[in-house]
Amino acid sequence: MSAPFIVFGAPDIGDEEIREVVATMESGWLGTGPRVAAFEAQFAQFKMSAPSQVAALNSCTAALHLSLIAAGVGPGDEVITSPLTFCATANAILHTGATPVLIDVDPRTMNIDPAGIEARITPRTRALLPVHFAGLPCEMDEILQIAARYRLSVIEDCAHAVEATYRGRPTGTLGDFGCFSFYATKNVTTGEGGMVVARDVEHIRRIKTLALHGMTRDAWKRFSDDGYKHYQVVECGFKYNMMDLQAAIGTHQLARVQASWEKRRAIWQKYQQAFADLPVICPADPPAHVRHAHHLYTLLIEEATCGVSRDAFMGRMTAQGVGVGVHYLALTEHPYYQEQLGWMPDDTPHATRIGRQTVSLPLSPALTDEDVGRVIEAVRMACGR
Ligand SMILES: *Cc1c(COP(=O)(O)O)cnc(C)c1O
Repeated sequence: MSAPFIVFGAPDIGDEEIREVVATMESGWLGTGPRVAAFEAQFAQFKMSAPSQVAALNSCTAALHLSLIAAGVGPGDEVITSPLTFCATANAILHTGATPVLIDVDPRTMNIDPAGIEARITPRTRALLPVHFAGLPCEMDEILQIAARYRLSVIEDCAHAVEATYRGRPTGTLGDFGCFSFYATKNVTTGEGGMVVARDVEHIRRIKTLALHGMTRDAWKRFSDDGYKHYQVVECGFKYNMMDLQAAIGTHQLARVQASWEKRRAIWQKYQQAFADLPVICPADPPAHVRHAHHLYTLLIEEATCGVSRDAFMGRMTAQGVGVGVHYLALTEHPYYQEQLGWMPDDTPHATRIGRQTVSLPLSPALTDEDVGRVIEAVRMACGR
């Protein structure tokens, strides 16, 4: 019998999460309520922020969208971001009516290259939206200096970077807004879910209203035991709230965040050593002034040096029972953006090349030592070793 398939991005769910979900269902309150409030307070503490500076939402996409709106971004504006990201980053900008402007990545860090930003700032630029790719924080000193010089808002896409810090400060608290994802494959998961952290408590107040149809009072407050209260609609909002059922999972995930990070860091370092002699390009070791969140471990497979194309390499991994991912094809490769915005792969040559060569290996804290050994063996075999 062959060993079971190693699923890419498998979540690590404990008995605590299962018990809390059952308790939530038995409590009779499934929607946004006391467990969401407790999860927000716990996340705020983790991010060295106040509970009034965070809002739990149903995705990071929602967090990005509402942060952009709260930052005043709208039709005709431009927002500068990275081409090496999930499509949600660009789509959230487009949903405000603004236009994303891509700055190519630094080929080593794979993060937006701050040196390219200033040349692309125009009178329409309203915000910078850096993405901490794979969990490695962007060079925030340079990004924040540019933002201050041109009076731009900074929205950090922290979907990969929940545990990351930059010069000792938690990611998501460096800019004006930080957006986190609790999607099933992310470092902390609620199945689907997200969180926004903001410096200004007024922004969080607005985001909470916008997340629930633009209503002044959420259901938990409307139906509380001191009697029914009427709500008023003060804006045309969205339906972006998190449920207590999701917070029930997140609260135990967050309690284990440090242990889970240490496990992934150990696997990440094991991969770094195991692949040093292979004709592949390993990720850059993080510099001393950051804490890497170790969300993704990505190899670059260059056909000319490795003797195998990236897609053939992925086929060989799957055939050996190891699930792999691609993070990401550059945004400039997708037909929608090419047609609507005129983007071309050559606009962002580093991101395009990385997107065509990159492969992500399993890095879940649920991996056993034996699994990690199998992944390493499979990579060596796929390279013809
Ligand atoms: C996962 C991800 C998102 C979107 O997160 P959701 O919670 O699925 O909406 C945004 N940006 C990046 C970089 C991501 O990896």
